[in-house]
Amino acid sequence: MSSSVALRLPSIDGLLRHPACAPLAERYGRDSLLTGLRQLLDELRPGVLSGQLAAVEIGPEVLAGRVGERLAQQQRSQVRRVFNLTGTVLHTNLGRALLPEEAIEAVQMAARYPLNLEFDLGSGKRGDRDDLIEGLIRELTGAEAVTVVNNNAAAVLLTLNSLGARKEGIISRGELIEIGGAFRIPDIMARAGVRLHEVGTTNRTHARDYQAAISPRSGLIMRVHASNYSIEGFTARVPTAELAELAHAHGLPLLEDLGSGSLLDLTRWGLPAEPTVRQALLDGADIVTFSGDKLLGGPQAGLIVGRKELIAKIKKNPLKRALRVDKLTLAALEAVLGLYRDPDRIAERLPSLRLLTRPQADIHAQAVRLQPLLADALGEVWQVSAVEALGMIGSGSQPVARLPSAALCCRPRVSKRWRGRYLLNLEAALRGLPIPVLGRIGDDALWLDLRQLDDEPAWLAQLAQLQVDR
Ligand SMILES: *Cc1c(COP(=O)(O)O)cnc(C)c1O
Repeated sequence: MSSSVALRLPSIDGLLRHPACAPLAERYGRDSLLTGLRQLLDELRPGVLSGQLAAVEIGPEVLAGRVGERLAQQQRSQVRRVFNLTGTVLHTNLGRALLPEEAIEAVQMAARYPLNLEFDLGSGKRGDRDDLIEGLIRELTGAEAVTVVNNNAAAVLLTLNSLGARKEGIISRGELIEIGGAFRIPDIMARAGVRLHEVGTTNRTHARDYQAAISPRSGLIMRVHASNYSIEGFTARVPTAELAELAHAHGLPLLEDLGSGSLLDLTRWGLPAEPTVRQALLDGADIVTFSGDKLLGGPQAGLIVGRKELIAKIKKNPLKRALRVDKLTLAALEAVLGLYRDPDRIAERLPSLRLLTRPQADIHAQAVRLQPLLADALGEVWQVSAVEALGMIGSGSQPVARLPSAALCCRPRVSKRWRGRYLLNLEAALRGLPIPVLGRIGDDALWLDLRQLDDEPAWLAQLAQLQVDR
C-alpha cells in the first residue's frame, strides 16, 4: 500500500445530512434511503479496504447519485406497458385483449366506489354477481343462464367437475388438446374427477364411435375446439347437432368448449369464420364455455352459458366460490358485452376487433411514414424497409389463418456470422426502452409489425434513446 492515509467511507449520518441526499429522503422516504445507503456502503467497503477504490468514487454526491438510481429502479412498477409489435394481436403473454374506454370507465367506478356486486337493488336482498350480466348474455347468445369464473380453464374444470365427477367423459381423440401454459384436456378431466373415455382417432371420429362408448358409466359428452392446431386432409367430425341428438337420446349433457367463443360472425369483417356461441347452443350444446379475453375482446374471464338447470348445478359446486370473478372483471365484462348490442359499430368501438380488422393499406402507409425515422435512429448498419407482413389473431384462434399486415423490417448490413448477434442486440435494445418495444426475429431480420401501433407519438418519442451497434 503506497498511501499512508487510509481511505474512509462517509458515515451514514453524514450522508443523510448531506444536501445531495435531502431530495431523495423527500421523494422515497427516510427509511428507504437509509436502507439503500447501508446496502451501498456495505458493497463498497471491501473495495475501500483493499485500496481499489479512489476517493472520487465514494464522494457523497456520487453515492447519493447511485442510491438515487437504485431507489428509482425499485420504485418502478414491475407491471409495465409495452408495445406489442409481434404481429400476434391476442398475445397471451402480453395480456390478450385491450379494453374499450367504456370498460375502463366501468373498472374505475368499480374500483373507486362500493357497488351492488351481490345486492339486489330492487328487493333490497342479497343478490348474485352472475345476475349482473345474465340479461346481456341471454340476449347476445340465446342461453338460458350464465355463470362467470376466472378464465376459461376454470370454466372447463368447474363444468366437468359439476356435471361429470365419478363418471366417464366421452371425447374424440382429435380433441385431446394442449393449450399453451400446460392446460391439457386429459389432465383437467382427471383433476375434475371425470374419467376420460376417448373415442375415434386423431383425424377421424364418427357418430358410431361415440355411440359405442355410451354406457351406464357415462356422465357427459364433451367437444373441444381444436384452437391452436388444425386437422386437415382426411378428416371426419360429427356435427354438433348430431352429437347433441345422440347425447340427449341417452340423457347425457353435451359440453362444448369453444375456446375463443365469438359472439358475432366475424366473416362480416373479412376475418376467418369461428363458431359462435349462439350457433353452438342452437345446435344443441347444453353448456358452452369460452374466454372473455380472446375474440370476445374483454377482460380475462371464463363464461359458462347454457341450460338453466345445469347452470344451477354448476353454481352450487363449492369450487365456484374458489373460481369466481372479482368486481373489476364483472364491471369490464358488462361494459364490453354492452357494445355487442350494436354490432354495426362494434368494429370501431372494441379495440381487439378494430385492430384485427385494420386494413393492410393503412398499416403499410404507417410503415412507409415511419421507415425513415427508424432508419435514422438505427444508423448506417441497419437496412430498414417498410414491407408487407403476415400476422396472427393469437390465443389459439385460427392458428393457420394469417392477417395481412405490414412491418418495419430491420436487417443488419454485416456478414452472416455476425447477423444473429446484431439482431439479438437490437431486440434487447428495443426491450430496454422506457416503453419496451417487442417485435419478432425471423429470416435474418427483426420485424416490427405495425398493426397494433396505436400510440405513434409515444413510440417516436423514445426512438432517440435507442442504443444499438452502429
Ligand atoms: C384458450 C382456451 C382455453 C383456456 O382459456 P383461458 O381463458 O386461457 O383459461 C380452454 N379451451 C380452449 C379450447 C381454448 O382455446
